[in-house]
Amino acid sequence: MVIGMGLLDLNLHNKLPEKFRADFPALSNSVYLDSAATALKPQTMIDTTVEYYAHNTATAQRSLHQDALKVTTAISEARQSVAKFIHSQSSHQIVWTRGTTESINIIAQSYARPLLQADDEIIVSELEHHSNLLPWLIVAKQTGAKVIKWTADVNELSSLLSPKTKIVSITQMSNVTGFCPDLVKISQLVHQHNAILVVDGAQGVVHQPIDVEKLDIDFYAFSAHKLYGPTGLGVLYGKQHLLEQMDVWQGGGKMLKNTTFSDFEVEDLPYKFEAGTQNIAGILGFKATLDWLKKWDEAQLNCYITQLANYAESKLSELNHIQFYSVKNSPIISFNMHNIHHNDIAILLSEQNIAIRTGGLCAKPLMDKLGCHGVIRISIMPYNNQQDIDSFVTALKNAIEVLT
Ligand code: PMP
Repeated sequence: MVIGMGLLDLNLHNKLPEKFRADFPALSNSVYLDSAATALKPQTMIDTTVEYYAHNTATAQRSLHQDALKVTTAISEARQSVAKFIHSQSSHQIVWTRGTTESINIIAQSYARPLLQADDEIIVSELEHHSNLLPWLIVAKQTGAKVIKWTADVNELSSLLSPKTKIVSITQMSNVTGFCPDLVKISQLVHQHNAILVVDGAQGVVHQPIDVEKLDIDFYAFSAHKLYGPTGLGVLYGKQHLLEQMDVWQGGGKMLKNTTFSDFEVEDLPYKFEAGTQNIAGILGFKATLDWLKKWDEAQLNCYITQLANYAESKLSELNHIQFYSVKNSPIISFNMHNIHHNDIAILLSEQNIAIRTGGLCAKPLMDKLGCHGVIRISIMPYNNQQDIDSFVTALKNAIEVLT
């Protein structure tokens, strides 16, 4: 894609976004360019959640009345939908969690902690969100293992991998720069060294098709809320033999086959990781979201986003004293305006009804590397359109005028 290709090409795809936009009631509130923080929700996901609370409230896997049995079945169908979506062989490898953060913490505490010994190494890229760094720092403190910093460059990885490496953890797409590491090559290298590969799919799952089997990913984590789904729900995928060998995460109802007062036998996968009542409304809402997503041509949506990102970048490039941090044509565009604090921009944009994200984006080590305290980020989804970008750029210009 060439910068400046502009209006003509965007108009080619306008029909699809207009239909897509119509499914998002919250679009009437503001120009929403903060989807990398959390995506807006389609009407069907909202309706399904309301329906559950209004008419079909029941618990899953416990009671035997009709509504409870329906909910139990729906939850297992939802698990199958997720398995299909990420190309997991079995739905038993799909564990419901609260989100990416919890998924990675489970890997760190239930897989890594019993395995790691002093001086073992966990390689983590410097691009990572705190959710894919802190769990490793915590488990390193607990075990004496070391967290090794990596640029996310494949060539550098070869020189970092050694017999001491037990885990390599990497984002599928940086929430700051939009960079997508080469997971094919990374996976090959990691497995040549008998380490395991953890992928944080929080951003990537939204914009790239993912095939955990083909990529030979050992653990994959993502959050429903960034993929048009509900908050408070996430997924942990793991290879079956790894999930089986792992310690349980939390104790409580339904993670056990049998218990006495002094001991217990754990349930099979995936239930051994799902103590307590799950986020039932969220899971049902997410199933509806995934069904709704199937209506759209993913390649067409991604092509549209690339064009819109290209348009936004070309508009922003016209501004004086702008510094970009993101890769070209990414749905995530991060930048700073020279001598203007990012948060001042956010406040002045908010006054003009434009929602964006500013700050460290939960990636402080990356901010240190970029040499800034924070950035201005817009993130683009197929429900955004050219008018959104135009309104944002006009509002940004107004803000700059006030601040300089
Ligand atoms: N990883 C990345 C790359 C993210 O962008 C985010 C959310 N900003 C997370 C992890 C954490 O996701 P959650 O807060 O939903 O657990």
